[in-house]
Amino acid sequence: MSRINLKPAATLRAPAELIAHGFAAAADLPDLEKVAAHYAVAVTPDIAALIDRDDPDDPIARQFIPSAEELTAAPGENADPIGDHTHSPAAGIVHRYPDRVLFKLVHVCAVYCRFCFRREMVGPGKATALSQSAYEGAIGYIRAHPEIWEVILTGGDPLMLSPRRLAEVMADLAGIDHVRIIRIHTRVPVADPARVSRKMIAALRVEGATTWVALHANHARELTAKARAACAAIVDAGIPMVSQSVLLRGVNDNAADLEALMRAFVECRIKPYYLHHGDLAPGTSHLRTTLAHGQALMRQLRGRVSGLCQPDYVLDIPGGHGKSPVGPGYLSPADSFSEAREPEAETRYRVVDYCGDVHLYPPTP
Ligand code: SF4
Repeated sequence: MSRINLKPAATLRAPAELIAHGFAAAADLPDLEKVAAHYAVAVTPDIAALIDRDDPDDPIARQFIPSAEELTAAPGENADPIGDHTHSPAAGIVHRYPDRVLFKLVHVCAVYCRFCFRREMVGPGKATALSQSAYEGAIGYIRAHPEIWEVILTGGDPLMLSPRRLAEVMADLAGIDHVRIIRIHTRVPVADPARVSRKMIAALRVEGATTWVALHANHARELTAKARAACAAIVDAGIPMVSQSVLLRGVNDNAADLEALMRAFVECRIKPYYLHHGDLAPGTSHLRTTLAHGQALMRQLRGRVSGLCQPDYVLDIPGGHGKSPVGPGYLSPADSFSEAREPEAETRYRVVDYCGDVHLYPPTP
């Protein structure tokens, strides 16, 4: 690998730039050009600084540096893996659950994750944001549906908007009486923490609705001092934060790394919220693990850290059927005991403790 220009001053977008900065091998250029022609590439200086170029298995590089493996779609992978289109009544809106909508305002991100479930909707050849008329249509849809209590601004990354534009959007949403919660899903505090300026934070706070920010990060190393400071500024402004992470092979699919990530979130006053099973996005099978492995990791996490550090392990069911918790179960009927009891008696269960030991509930008299 080349060892010139090791410290990028700007976001790297072209495979040749990644090679020039030592993030990919020159021999891979033809394949990486093919990947980049279809899927967006962006590695910010903050993310680039986190990558150990001497580690071929670096967990940060696996998330952001493109790979020839992305050229192969596995069976079952789909350009719309979680069925956004099935529930899109207006441009930019996904109305999958009764009381909330996704509002996809922008189609650009600070960085492009190699496992992105919306990778076919962001990047080369896509519009960068909703047109003004589509935006007005989306706001009109939300206004016309009083059951919508929560609006989730999501990806692309809404913090790629200017503070001025973000403030306008927040005011438009908060001006709708029934919209009480505005949740913003972002990777910016990690990928480009300098964007989290005072003006940006001021734009997040709005009269008439409560703002929540969900931070997407997948490895504890992403929570740098700068990222922690950006999150602290958001929380100090009175905006609660939750996390979302994706379970990724070679990134965080072991108990120690997951534990470190969840502890880092909690130290930053960010409540772990979701650990997503990898979606069936095209060319991402090399980054997915199995549900059985995910469940085993969640059991280990339960034994290692407090409830504060426990996310929900969830699967977005392909076809647009929504998220379901897929974490391990801890409770099962103790059939041999139940059968012997009166019908109206409390069912007896087996319950598994944090060490994996099994107990009866209610306990044996
Ligand atoms: S930040 Fe979110 S929307 Fe953007 S590439 Fe990553 S996963 Fe996809």
